[in-house]
Amino acid sequence: MATISMQCPDCSAPLTANVGESHIDGKLRWYQSYRCSSCGNATELDDIGFPPDSIRAALIDELGYWQVVVVDANEKSKAVQVIRNALALSLVDAKNLIAIFPRVYAGTKVECAWLKSVLEQSGIAANVIDSGAVTMNFAKEER
Ligand SMILES: [Zn+2]
Repeated sequence: MATISMQCPDCSAPLTANVGESHIDGKLRWYQSYRCSSCGNATELDDIGFPPDSIRAALIDELGYWQVVVVDANEKSKAVQVIRNALALSLVDAKNLIAIFPRVYAGTKVECAWLKSVLEQSGIAANVIDSGAVTMNFAKEER
């Protein structure tokens, strides 16, 4: 979970919203919740898929950048196909993915955990590792 600073959509007072991602039943989800101390507006938003950029950036700031690495190099074509389906990648993006294999994704920790579970459902072992300061622009270009 992370927080973002925003303005209350009702009264424009500054407030802090809690934001986060989760993955349940093979689906990535995100949420944003806040309560305005000025007007009492309480809002809970959640949806399936990738969160808006502002939320995703806050999660990466707070929890770092992570990546998914496939364990078995022999699973390359199958793994790329699974990731391509999960992320709805174009053919060009799928080719970029082949170039960086066995890394197949970089993003938030929960997104990586989600993709690891998607790969494992197809029988492909993968690890989620902390990228630290090393950034791979693949996921950013996807947005
Ligand atoms: Zn308000």
